[in-house]
Amino acid sequence: MSTQWLSDEQQEIRDLVRTLARERVAPRAADIDKGGEFPWDMVELLREQELFGLPFDEEYGGTGTGALMVLVAIEEISKVCATTGLLLAVQELGSLGLKLAGTEEQKARYLPRLASGEWLCAYALTEPGSGSDSAAMRSEARREGREYVLNGSKRFITNAGVAHLYTVFAKTDPDGGHGGISAFVVEADSPGFEVGRIEPKMGIKGSTTGEVFFNDCRVPAENLLGEEGEGFAIAMRVLDRSRPGIGAQGLGLAQGATDYALEYARSREAFGRPIAEHQLIGGMLADMETKCEAARGLLYRCGQMIDDGVDGPELTKISAIAKLFCTDVAMEVTTNAVQVLGGYGYMQEYPVERMMRDAKITQIYEGTNQIQRLVIAREMLRETRSFLLAGVG
Ligand SMILES: Cc1cc2nc3c(=O)[nH]c(=O)nc-3n(C[C@H](O)[C@H](O)[C@H](O)COP(=O)(O)OP(=O)(O)OC[C@H]3O[C@@H](n4cnc5c(N)ncnc54)[C@H](O)[C@@H]3O)c2cc1C
Repeated sequence: MSTQWLSDEQQEIRDLVRTLARERVAPRAADIDKGGEFPWDMVELLREQELFGLPFDEEYGGTGTGALMVLVAIEEISKVCATTGLLLAVQELGSLGLKLAGTEEQKARYLPRLASGEWLCAYALTEPGSGSDSAAMRSEARREGREYVLNGSKRFITNAGVAHLYTVFAKTDPDGGHGGISAFVVEADSPGFEVGRIEPKMGIKGSTTGEVFFNDCRVPAENLLGEEGEGFAIAMRVLDRSRPGIGAQGLGLAQGATDYALEYARSREAFGRPIAEHQLIGGMLADMETKCEAARGLLYRCGQMIDDGVDGPELTKISAIAKLFCTDVAMEVTTNAVQVLGGYGYMQEYPVERMMRDAKITQIYEGTNQIQRLVIAREMLRETRSFLLAGVG
């Protein structure tokens, strides 16, 4: 498996995470899925092993090891348990608003608690009436003296009920379109903040997905992130950096399913030989591995670009490409892993059916894959490509 993308230090950290995932996370994965309970023991494990520090700079108590390293860690954990991999991805998603737009004071107040994992966080953009079209949100925030008063609700929020801190988007100018949206840090114990229903769902069952309500919810004015009206731009800049994390979750699922299917195909016999020696199965395994390798090349390149400081439209495009490709690979490869195992693949006793159910969400959240295609096409249309058509006609 490709290692040339990673420095010696990165490979060392990856190997530690891989071992931890295999020894401590994998044995819990099936029970987390069956029980559907939020895995506090996995939170404790990530805290203990200082893995929540991966997305944070050293000055705020993090490891300062960069974006690519976070992707590698999410991939390694998601190979065995996508719910646990998501814990790390959402710690990044929920904190990126602070990292990108927070003042020094805001960062110093919150980031160390997130880097240690003492606090979990969440990102609250989606509402009952606005998902893909997030600017159609209805939640509002109005300034009253030294506070903002928030009213409205958010739906499908990962870590609802377990997060201590929510990055929340609401309209400070309801008629202002995209430019009327602002971003806030809302602590879970703010007056008027409430958690609603936690949704039962198809996969990533240990992760909480729920509603949150703001009923005259009061937050100090200093919890505004950036300036009023900058919220939509902040939300999109966050997604440019967090979408690769979902790609990493998808890649982990795909590689985990490929590895499992390979082992199974070596030992399961049909027509007098291991099924891996039947060419149609061998061909499927080869395609699965090829897709994982291609996805990894793309994802790691995207992580490296973030670490190299690439920003703006170039980042928007590559992060959408990486999320799209890795998560489509996740769905296809996990489905094929079930096929390789035949009837056993369909049984809950084997992990590939869980992986297939878990893979589906990666094509939906942080922007559906239709939305990724729209983003990529929009960026392509903005680029100038001065060849081919020159001189035609
Ligand atoms: C388990 C889970 C966890 C989540 N976690 C979070 C979270 O932590 N924070 C958060 O803010 N949100 C979260 N979400 C919300 C998620 O990001 C949205 O569900 C997603 O963006 C799609 O929005 P929607 O469900 O409203 O679908 P809709 O926007 O209603 O879309 C429905 C369908 O129409 C398609 N569609 C919409 N517009 C277009 C278009 N212009 N062109 C082509 N096709 C289009 C979509 O691709 C989709 O297939 C989560 C969702 C789930 C299920």
